[in-house]
Amino acid sequence: MRLADYTTVRLGGPARGFVRASTEEELIEAVRTADASGEPVLVLGGGSNLVVADEGFDGTVIQVATRGVSPGPDVGTVTVAAGEDWDAVVARTVAEGLAGLECLSGIPGLAGATPIQNVGAYGQEVSQTITQVRVFDRKTGETLQVPNEQCGFGYRTSRFRGEDRFVVLSVTFGLAVQVRSVPVRYAELAAALGVAPGDQVESIQARSAVIELRQRKGMVIDPADPDTRSVGSFFVNPVLDADTMASVEAVARARYGPGTRVPRFEAGDGLVKVPAAWLIERAGFGKGYSPGDGARISSKHTLALVNSGSASTAGLMALAREIRDGVRDTFGVPLAPEPVLVGVAL
Ligand SMILES: Cc1cc2nc3c(=O)[nH]c(=O)nc-3n(C[C@H](O)[C@H](O)[C@H](O)COP(=O)(O)OP(=O)(O)OC[C@H]3O[C@@H](n4cnc5c(N)ncnc54)[C@H](O)[C@@H]3O)c2cc1C
Repeated sequence: MRLADYTTVRLGGPARGFVRASTEEELIEAVRTADASGEPVLVLGGGSNLVVADEGFDGTVIQVATRGVSPGPDVGTVTVAAGEDWDAVVARTVAEGLAGLECLSGIPGLAGATPIQNVGAYGQEVSQTITQVRVFDRKTGETLQVPNEQCGFGYRTSRFRGEDRFVVLSVTFGLAVQVRSVPVRYAELAAALGVAPGDQVESIQARSAVIELRQRKGMVIDPADPDTRSVGSFFVNPVLDADTMASVEAVARARYGPGTRVPRFEAGDGLVKVPAAWLIERAGFGKGYSPGDGARISSKHTLALVNSGSASTAGLMALAREIRDGVRDTFGVPLAPEPVLVGVAL
């Protein structure tokens, strides 16, 4: 098998071993067995946040295929097996009159991966609704419940990210029992819905609007649309302190005129989050930019690096490096990758 068949960017060489775990017992057993023999393990969900080397993975890939969605015990609480398709979970909660996940519609991958990088979009993050995450601890061999406050959630991160110790078995969400959405926070979404930020709409409306916005940006997987052959956003939006922001603004005004305003979102503690897409475009890498070896920037979204069909992981990473270096040289801002890199580094 080639991992390219299991990743949304359709890249990645072979793995030495491959196990599909359909039950929690199989999942834990597969991890235990590999760990006991010193075999490296790659836990695979939907492969939508993974960039794997052309050389592949020298170990066993364990694909999470567990199923099950169970309500309770509290009203609005739902526990989801790690292998459940994420968007199906969102669709189901919306249909059942539960609010809190509607803006996370259309994100590919499986439920068990959502706590890993605290999946977020359009003003919602899973950390806002996760009550606990059940994990298998590879170090102690125990299964434990990690309550939200011990998950170390931050912007696109958690204690589970970059740490192979925990295998997520299930995730419990505490949702509001209402057909109306939670307040719409994201200005672009509010505008699309024709409401003011902070207003509520029916969750089903929020879900439809989010999917439509995402489709326009190539952010919903569509086999017919090569712009969706990606890992979504390749870089996280950098969070800058006041001094760095001032120097970015100075560069922007010097290069693009005194009236230039660098877009930003408040990130607390005097920090601001700047859209990486804006920095990338202003550094000279527009939509569709292609160095010519099959890896290119999406024609719909500057943050998505896509495999036009003939790319290699090496080519994708070379493009990512070129962009990272261009942004650093132009603005002095380091960009960090969002996907998990396996066997490659930026
Ligand atoms: C078109 C597109 C749009 C996207 N949009 C967004 C977005 O709006 N917001 C956002 O946050 N992300 C987005 N993503 C990224 C991605 O969909 C999410 O990060 C998703 O949660 C990854 O899920 P997955 O099952 O595919 O994980 P994988 O890619 O299979 O794995 C990602 C990482 O999680 C680990 N992992 C997976 N499952 C488990 C488990 N059960 N236990 C322990 N570790 C595990 C893997 O080992 C790996 O390190 C997008 C991706 C694409 C392709």
